[in-house]
Amino acid sequence: MGAREFTRGRRVVARLAHGGDLLEEIAAVAEEHGMRTAELRAIGALQAARLAFYDQSAHEYGEFTVDAPVELIGLLGNVSLKDGATFVHAHATLAGHDGACVAGHVAPGCVVFAGELVLQELVGEPLEREFDEVTGLALWRDL
Ligand code: ZN
Repeated sequence: MGAREFTRGRRVVARLAHGGDLLEEIAAVAEEHGMRTAELRAIGALQAARLAFYDQSAHEYGEFTVDAPVELIGLLGNVSLKDGATFVHAHATLAGHDGACVAGHVAPGCVVFAGELVLQELVGEPLEREFDEVTGLALWRDL
C-alpha cells in the first residue's frame, strides 16, 4: 500500500464531441487545461463501445465490442502520466435498450454519442505510471 496527498484544484466540465473517441476526448480536455493528475466521471451515451477485462493469470486484456447504442450510466477513472504523456484510465457501466448492463475497462473504440464530463484536478506531484512486474500492469510508481 502506498499513498500520496493531493489538494483539490480546478474542476472542469466538458461536453464531449459527437463521434469522438471517449478516451481521446477526455485526454484532450485534460491537456487543454494542463491537468496532469485528475479524477474523472462522466455520463452520456455511446454509439458503440469497446471494453476490456484483464486476465490476471495471462497478464493480458481481452477486449470485446458492444456493437449497439448504449447509455453511459457511469464512467469513473483518473488521469495521470505514462511515458510523460496524458493517460486516461476509466471503467464504464453501459446499459442497452432493455436496461441490461455490461461493464469493463474502457478501451480505444468507444464512440461518443453525447457525453458530459467532470474532471477534478488533483494538485501535487503528478502521478506517473510504470510497468509493474507482479501484475503486468502500468501502475502508479512511488506509491
Ligand atoms: Zn482498468
